Amino acid sequence: MDHFEPRGGVLHAEGVALDKLAAAVGTPFYCYSTATLERHYRVFVEALAQVDSTEPPLVAYAVKANPNLSVIATLARAGAGADVVSGGEMRRALAAGVPANRIVFSGVGKTRDEMAAALAAGIYQFNVESEEELATLGAVASALGHVAPVALRINPGVDALTHAKISTGKDENKFGIPLARAEAAYALAATTPGIRAMGISAHIGSQLTQLAPLEATFARLGDLVTRLRAAGQSVERVDLGGGLGIPYKRDEPAPPSPADYGAMVAKATRGWNVRLMFEPGRMIVGNAGIMVTRVILTKTGAAKRFVVVDAAMNDLLRPAFYSAWHDILAIAPRAGEMTATVVGPICETGDTFAEDRVLTPLQAGDLVAFMTAGAYGATMASTYNSRPLVPEVLVDGDSYAVVRPRLDIDALLALDVIAPWLKPQANES
Ligand SMILES: *Cc1c(COP(=O)(O)O)cnc(C)c1O
Repeated sequence: MDHFEPRGGVLHAEGVALDKLAAAVGTPFYCYSTATLERHYRVFVEALAQVDSTEPPLVAYAVKANPNLSVIATLARAGAGADVVSGGEMRRALAAGVPANRIVFSGVGKTRDEMAAALAAGIYQFNVESEEELATLGAVASALGHVAPVALRINPGVDALTHAKISTGKDENKFGIPLARAEAAYALAATTPGIRAMGISAHIGSQLTQLAPLEATFARLGDLVTRLRAAGQSVERVDLGGGLGIPYKRDEPAPPSPADYGAMVAKATRGWNVRLMFEPGRMIVGNAGIMVTRVILTKTGAAKRFVVVDAAMNDLLRPAFYSAWHDILAIAPRAGEMTATVVGPICETGDTFAEDRVLTPLQAGDLVAFMTAGAYGATMASTYNSRPLVPEVLVDGDSYAVVRPRLDIDALLALDVIAPWLKPQANES
């Protein structure tokens, strides 16, 4: 469910007409809906109402899905914590008003500087992904006079049945500590100075459209909790990660709903006697954002008809990177149908958003929206082909705010420095 609906023949974001917004901010741009963000967060929290947790579950929004400060602040205001994977993301979470005691730090390669900054901030938990990292974190914490609260991220050896580039829980993936070494690693954590072993975590991948891999993972985590306690360890928290998939095609069956997920979690974790934690990203922001672009021209090739838009793969990488599908809707659709391949202006054949897509008829100057672009959209953008990053706009009812302005080309050029020996010489005469 989102709040992007046509009204009077024009697609709106809540109460804001997208053609008017495009005229005001220029194209391309990203547009996020406050009501949709809040709704998705609430739906997720409500789906967990039946779970058995020693404290209210911590829902730590995975900032990497959409790190815009206003997006994080919207979710923080609704009560969300943050799952961060870099020092920069931690700074964003703090700047957006997420309390340090609701921040979790994940990632396979945290640096000493990042660890020190997170210890100084007093974050809730480090999800440690290797024995090597445990030793480093213990040393950094001890040197600073801190004790780091730690959950060990376990790689459960489960295939999430999703795209290979976003599968993270298989034996051959870089993430986490292999299940077979989990007990030894936990014993190590419990005796490492500077470390307080609080629990375990897992995150097996993203855009999961089946519950079975998650269920299998949680069963392994439950068995591990039992074995750890039998060995005399204290386990107070289990972080179940994120990964729940969302519908990208309006006319296809939706992946498991948050309610189905919540019911499965309640059953799988009954009696664990821990605080449960979650790290949803895509599920919260995916359908809360779109990217709006304008048709530059249409052209006919030898084999295909092309629609060339002013957005490109640098602005929305998912189709090129993951062969991902985004529904493409005209902002003010005409009657009828056309089939076309939708491409951007970048000098790469990979700069293709959709092949042979059935669309409403489009002409130069028309506006179209790429739907479900709120997650892993703007944040994966680059300036390839010297294309400045595009603006991001947050809508709330009838109001909107530009929450990241368009960078102009002078600002982009100003990031480079001409080496002193290449500077144009003053005329010697
Ligand atoms: C990316 C990531 C998430 C969020 O995944 P989604 O599929 O967006 O829910 C959660 N936890 C960790 C550790 C991640 O790397």
